[in-house]
Amino acid sequence: MSGREGADPSGSGRPADFIRAAIAADRAAGRHDGRVATRFPPEPNGFLHIGHAKSIVLNFGVAEENGGSCHLRYDDTNPAKEEQQYVDAIAEDVRWLGYRSTGPARFASDHFDRLYEYAETLIRRGAAYVDDLSAEEIRATRGTLETPGQNSRYRDRPVEENLDLFRRMRAGEFPDGARVLRARMDMASPNLNLRDPTLYRIRRIRHHRTGDAWPIYPLYDFAHALSDSIEGITHSLCTLEFENHRPLYDWCVAASGADFVPRQIEFARLNLGFTVLSKRRLKQLVDEGRVSGWDDPRMPTIAGMRRRGIPPAAIRAFCRRVGVAKRDSVVDVALFEHAIRDELNRTSRRLMGVLDPVKLVVENYPPEAEEMFAAANNPEDASAGVRHVPFSRELFIDRADFMESPPRRFFRMAPGREVRLRAAWLVTCTGFDRGPDGEIVEVRCRLDPDSRGGSAPDGRRVRGTLHWVSARHAVEVEVRLYDRLFLAAEPGRGGDFRDDLNPDSLRTVRARIEPLVGELAPGGRIQLERVGYFVADPVEHRQEAPVLNRTVTLRDAWARLLKRRKRHRSRIPGKR
Ligand code: ATP
Ligand code: MG
Repeated sequence: MSGREGADPSGSGRPADFIRAAIAADRAAGRHDGRVATRFPPEPNGFLHIGHAKSIVLNFGVAEENGGSCHLRYDDTNPAKEEQQYVDAIAEDVRWLGYRSTGPARFASDHFDRLYEYAETLIRRGAAYVDDLSAEEIRATRGTLETPGQNSRYRDRPVEENLDLFRRMRAGEFPDGARVLRARMDMASPNLNLRDPTLYRIRRIRHHRTGDAWPIYPLYDFAHALSDSIEGITHSLCTLEFENHRPLYDWCVAASGADFVPRQIEFARLNLGFTVLSKRRLKQLVDEGRVSGWDDPRMPTIAGMRRRGIPPAAIRAFCRRVGVAKRDSVVDVALFEHAIRDELNRTSRRLMGVLDPVKLVVENYPPEAEEMFAAANNPEDASAGVRHVPFSRELFIDRADFMESPPRRFFRMAPGREVRLRAAWLVTCTGFDRGPDGEIVEVRCRLDPDSRGGSAPDGRRVRGTLHWVSARHAVEVEVRLYDRLFLAAEPGRGGDFRDDLNPDSLRTVRARIEPLVGELAPGGRIQLERVGYFVADPVEHRQEAPVLNRTVTLRDAWARLLKRRKRHRSRIPGKR
């Protein structure tokens, strides 16, 4: 794993993006003695998704490029929504992506004592007050973008009274919602985030780490800024929605007298077409049983992608290619799929397998005979060696590879046509049979005895090459064909995002695959030649009962579509 490609993709010596440029400038100016420390700060209220991967790759990447540190910090300030299972899943996902926290993972809850001290400091300095208004009243007096808010009637409480009330909040004397601690900022600020934001609230809820020790919990802005400061984070990288919170971030650090001052820099979130990237919505899919769980292979979660067979290197490469920008945009899923194919093409061994089998009988091959043909494990990588594939008189080919009356540019099997059975023989179709319902049940052919290994003896041109398996050697395998989870490019745009779910996002077939499939371990990745990339399901695959998940198809129907469109456009004069 390396973040270096991200640092300087052009080799020009210039930083790749505005964040790297800002960090380089800070280092050049000697800020924090040139030290770089970042963190990845998830809230443990759901599983991580591909958007988080972008943040992980960025945070760990810039730390590594600058010889700095990066650690995982759980923002566990809202016990109502947080659970240990999410803490564990996040740790595993970050590790699987190829990153190691510098030192142990931290938790905002590690800092609860110090955060509390900072809050008392704010009170003593007259910068925070205990407000008895209800959440509703606070909302109602906040004002709007056009109108200023109103000062709470508790805003000018004396320091001693504030301190006393805050201590009693901490001691658990008051019920939930009875009081909050608010920053004393400016109820007329044009930035609504600065209109006396709440810093602490009463929540008598068990926390997954601190148990019942705390009846009050700090809010995100306060806890986040000061956790960064406590941990000596030099560059606090976060997404654009926090840009309007930056003055509050800076205020929390300055007003509470923290001596370490981190710098927050915002970047655009990753948005992916045909994908939902929000833990809240993903949780809804899980809770409503619309997917099999957080790790359902159709989910854009890291756990789902792992189960789908997507290699971590492809996710890292994709995140680097997308880069960081200051403006929100939607990235085409085709770009992600391209990164996946690129990686899998180089690294997956090939097998032959037939998803929709139809029998092919080689009439001039003796019924009892069989032989082995050597086939490359990976044509992209000679060092991967060869495997041996059994051949016999009765084979299976894919139904889509035969047509009775083919169109002009169909180079597969048809009556009278000659094709190559990959790595084996050239065969010419001699006939076929239909079953009672009209479906083709058997195709027949004869092989050219001089074409052993699949090359034409006289150099004649044979355009089609088919994959095949020997019927009596093949293993029957459950194959799960996953497709996009959503049919709409922007799920939810026209209403409820769940209405855009793709009803055909999972189709299960019984495939026939060459016997080596039996050697796959759970999580093992292969290419079924001409068909797609697959992974032995990391959870349910057994050697005696194999289960394969389709990761991606071989070619991108989209890319072809786009190319055609581009070609079309280039014919219009004046356009490129
Ligand atoms: P969601 O909106 O999915 O619930 P979140 O922002 O609430 O995500 P956090 O756990 O708070 O999730 O996020 C941890 C870190 O990951 C934050 O720094 C956040 O900015 C970053 N992050 C979250 N979503 C994305 C995204 N789509 N692209 C890039 N970074 C993201
Ligand atoms: Mg969040």
